[in-house]
Amino acid sequence: MQQDLTPRDILTGLVSFPTVSRDTNLPLVDWVEAYLDDFGIHSKRIMSPCGEKAHLYAQVGPNVDGGVILSGHTDVVPVDGQAWSTDPWTLTERDGKLFGRGACDMKGFDALALHAMARASKRDLKRPLQLALSFDEEVGCAAVIDLVETMRGDLPKANEVLVGEPTMMKVVSGHKGGLGYRVHVRGFEVHSSLLPYGVSAIMQAAKLIDWANQKNAENAARAPSELAAPFHPPFTTLHVGTIEGGTAHNITAKDCRFFIEFRFVPGESPEDWATAFEARAAELTAEMQAIHPDTGIDLVRGFALPALTPETDGAAETLARRLTGDNGSHVVSYGTEGSQFQTRGYSTVICGPGDIAQAHQPDEFISLDQLAAGEAFMDKLLDQLCG
Ligand SMILES: [Zn+2]
Repeated sequence: MQQDLTPRDILTGLVSFPTVSRDTNLPLVDWVEAYLDDFGIHSKRIMSPCGEKAHLYAQVGPNVDGGVILSGHTDVVPVDGQAWSTDPWTLTERDGKLFGRGACDMKGFDALALHAMARASKRDLKRPLQLALSFDEEVGCAAVIDLVETMRGDLPKANEVLVGEPTMMKVVSGHKGGLGYRVHVRGFEVHSSLLPYGVSAIMQAAKLIDWANQKNAENAARAPSELAAPFHPPFTTLHVGTIEGGTAHNITAKDCRFFIEFRFVPGESPEDWATAFEARAAELTAEMQAIHPDTGIDLVRGFALPALTPETDGAAETLARRLTGDNGSHVVSYGTEGSQFQTRGYSTVICGPGDIAQAHQPDEFISLDQLAAGEAFMDKLLDQLCG
């Protein structure tokens, strides 16, 4: 019954599951499993620790090294508070566009990948086509590590990974990495007239935040590396987006909490930035504890995503260029799961239908043209795998 589904039909099915990252994706995974099963394709799931979500992976073709992985995520961002003119969970066509949450980011690609797997099952592949569908991409790209590690152990090693985040089918070979911390500065309360005997959590937090300002200034002043040059801006940035603390103008603040994120360029690692930041926090903690031992700075890492580094003569870039005809060099400013594959030894690029400008927006859409371009891309990919 599923045999004749078009990519658009598959997309209609995928969009109908409200797979917001905080919620289950299991009904979608059930659907995908059944779809693949109809073509005799055996898929496997990897359950989340909470048991309410699953990754899914599958392979079509000979059980040999040198295949291609199509990588997508199944989760979407919420629609809360957004003004949608259509039901976000019902794929709706208007003016050559298909509207729905995830239509662009990135169930459009997922649908194309599933369709390609089905078609591949009827072809004589010389190299395997592998599918990797993850959960929790939108909340840090960390869950996928389990999927990558499992596929690496369970399947023959693929030669190229194509991550189908929306790039308008351009071949994107680099993105910045990300690192985030939840920071809790714990001070000691005294009347502000007795300032030297207390520890103001706010004023200590300000020192840590000013360290970030200094790093931004240093980074901006330095000549960009070759890897950093294509980015806007061509350097690592540190940013504090939220802060709260204190109880009254005349009490040294007992608590101050803020969130800091690092967006770092390829060639720099999250570990190096983490080490530098934690060292500055440790210096300040020593200062604070010299005044009162119960004070300190608690750091909780929120996320850590490596940068995607452009590869020299990378296999994935070469393949994607051949399939799209796009010979330009592109980097993007958003993070993807691609770097989790790349740092585990896979040649990786980002290439998928739709415009990132549509992602996460109300009335998110993918154009019929882009869906067709994605289908043509998959057709050529299957020809390559047969050749
Ligand atoms: Zn995405």
